[in-house]
Amino acid sequence: MQVRITVSFPYEAPVSQSLFDRASAVTPGGVNSPVRAFRAVGGTPRFMVSGTGPYLTDADGREYVDLVCSWGPMILGHSHPEVIAAVQDAVARGTSFGTPGAGEVELAEEIVARIEPVEQVRLVSSGTEATMSAIRLARGFTGRPKVVKFAGCYHGHVDALLAAAGSGVATFGLPDTPGVTGAQAGDTIVLPYNDIEAVRAAFAAHPGEIACVITEASPGNMGVVPPLPGFNQGLKDLCAGNGALYISDEVMTGFRVSKAGWYGIDGVRPDLMTFGKVMGGGFPAAAFGGRADVMAHLAPAGPVYQAGTLSGNPIATAAGVAQLRLLDDAAYRKVDAVSAEVRGLVTAALAKEGVAHRLQVAGNMFSVFFTDAEVTDYDAAKAQESFRFTAFFHSMLSQGVYLPPSAFESWFLSTAHDTAAVERIAAALPAAARAAAGATA
Ligand code: PLP
Repeated sequence: MQVRITVSFPYEAPVSQSLFDRASAVTPGGVNSPVRAFRAVGGTPRFMVSGTGPYLTDADGREYVDLVCSWGPMILGHSHPEVIAAVQDAVARGTSFGTPGAGEVELAEEIVARIEPVEQVRLVSSGTEATMSAIRLARGFTGRPKVVKFAGCYHGHVDALLAAAGSGVATFGLPDTPGVTGAQAGDTIVLPYNDIEAVRAAFAAHPGEIACVITEASPGNMGVVPPLPGFNQGLKDLCAGNGALYISDEVMTGFRVSKAGWYGIDGVRPDLMTFGKVMGGGFPAAAFGGRADVMAHLAPAGPVYQAGTLSGNPIATAAGVAQLRLLDDAAYRKVDAVSAEVRGLVTAALAKEGVAHRLQVAGNMFSVFFTDAEVTDYDAAKAQESFRFTAFFHSMLSQGVYLPPSAFESWFLSTAHDTAAVERIAAALPAAARAAAGATA
């Protein structure tokens, strides 16, 4: 659906427009991942040509403070000199060998050292591969077919996990997208997020059939909707009591909200976990891991098949290792602090204009919901006045601040967001808040 733009653009983006026209001729919708298009907010996506620290520069030569950070990975900002040096060093030695390499061992060791429940880890190339492989392993390990997921949680474009990914409280998975058949989604049980009684009822209704419950450790894909106190522990306990595996998807939160991701915040011990984004330092690297007895079922150690030509790619692992080693406690304190500062500025600007809103926070991730009510599930997230976000987004964009082009996404900051970047955000907010206040549905 193309949304009507309710604000006027004070500037044009002719080079981006011409690239978008060319892209649209050769690529469906002109983008290689739907979230990059501006379908939810209208207008022309900006084609970026470079990134430095907290800034992106588009093809028209315009600079933006980046609050997307490549949807999470760029937690040290763009072109961090030590990450770039590690990449240059790796690339000079060759780009892919199709053999084991030292970089894979180093990255796996970094992950295992940080996240105590992860005893063994397998590297893959995308978060989608990680979640797909984790549920295959859970099914292979338990010998059971069914998977529980939650409405509004996104786990990549795995067929079985796209089931009702955005359809509220549907109970049994029906195809949410053409191309996913009933058979592929039929073993997926979709439940409302934060509703532990619904999970209890699902286990009661399907005794001995549920292989795993997969959840975002703290969801960021319906906007930021943290688990209610006790929810993740309740999932873990129900899984343990019913012989199912608890899979925590930390593709977004892993290595972002703390050194040990969301696990470092809530301490609920998953059987399996999935990672991506930050651990690749801006390259395609992802992973799944967890209990050694479960991981032992994975080929070639065990019978559950999983593979990848470019898994553990030497450049991606070099970038990931360099980025993770730079992420010490001080780095997280810095991102947490700048996140709190930006949140304070956003809420002050919106409150000044009388705009109903809620900032929901998970560590240093946050999003702005245009509603008074607490958002604890996908239905509540969808009930916000997202037309106000459209106006807010375009005003910020026109003033050189790049927000995620959707009201249902987290905002991301980095260690590179310094005083100058925050001042630019602060300067843009009053007009954006006025635009949100004046927006109509
Ligand atoms: N899981 C979560 C929680 C995600 O946020 C995403 C992507 O945004 C994925 C899985 C899929 O990762 P990828 O886009 O690398 O396939």
